[in-house]
Amino acid sequence: MPQRPIRLFVSDLDGTLLPFDGDQPTVDRFSTWWNALPLNDRPLLVYSSGRLYHDVLEVVPQVRLPPPDFVIGGVGTSIVDGAGRPVVGYRERFREGWDRSLVHDVMVGVTGVQPQPARYQSPFKSSWFLYDADEAAVARIRVALAEVELRVRVIYSSRRDLDVLPEDADKGRAVSWVAHHLHVSPEHVVVAGDTENDLAMFQVDGVRGIVVANATPGLLAGVRGLGVFRAKKFASDGVIEGLTAFGLGTPATRAARRLIRKPL
Ligand SMILES: [Mg+2]
Repeated sequence: MPQRPIRLFVSDLDGTLLPFDGDQPTVDRFSTWWNALPLNDRPLLVYSSGRLYHDVLEVVPQVRLPPPDFVIGGVGTSIVDGAGRPVVGYRERFREGWDRSLVHDVMVGVTGVQPQPARYQSPFKSSWFLYDADEAAVARIRVALAEVELRVRVIYSSRRDLDVLPEDADKGRAVSWVAHHLHVSPEHVVVAGDTENDLAMFQVDGVRGIVVANATPGLLAGVRGLGVFRAKKFASDGVIEGLTAFGLGTPATRAARRLIRKPL
């Protein structure tokens, strides 16, 4: 049976398309492979990062990744197009239940947290370092935030990064939003990631997912039962492996696309 064509590919950057050891040849292999896809076979490309969107737009040309059609920045707290123009309507929903200074007041009372540098902070993202916290400690933080009537989402990743976001913001909601905005059904979306802050993308109904070989145990536990592709290769090599397994760039997919494009 032919694979469903991929119209939208959403990938995390750090640890997924960008290996943590900064190995440029690995990144170049992905860019070369992607750029060699025939234009009518190439999905729309979205980078979805914990970095803020301007940081993403700055780093992408530096590491020679293909330019994105859209960027989901700050763990799903902003969506911009490839030129950095915000997608209207996404952020506007975040204000209810969100008070950044109140989040800050609660968080400074939590033992062991340190604020992340300013470049990881935004009006809708309060980010902290908290090393090796267990689930109970994260649960206590959620309770403390809820007690002051904040409606927020707490995402703990890589045993280090603790992000407090508006309740309606995460990478998954942003993927759904972009797909909807582009009239792409989830069946034609593939996502890729390596840590817990990517989990929400894999949980979007109907999307296919690629987990790279260096994924955290927390992400692997989270995607259990979701039928994701677990790559044997690391970072961007694993992404190529997954996209190929889903048929991207293979003759069978091209044939399927031609069938779909035939007028009724
Ligand atoms: Mg990552």
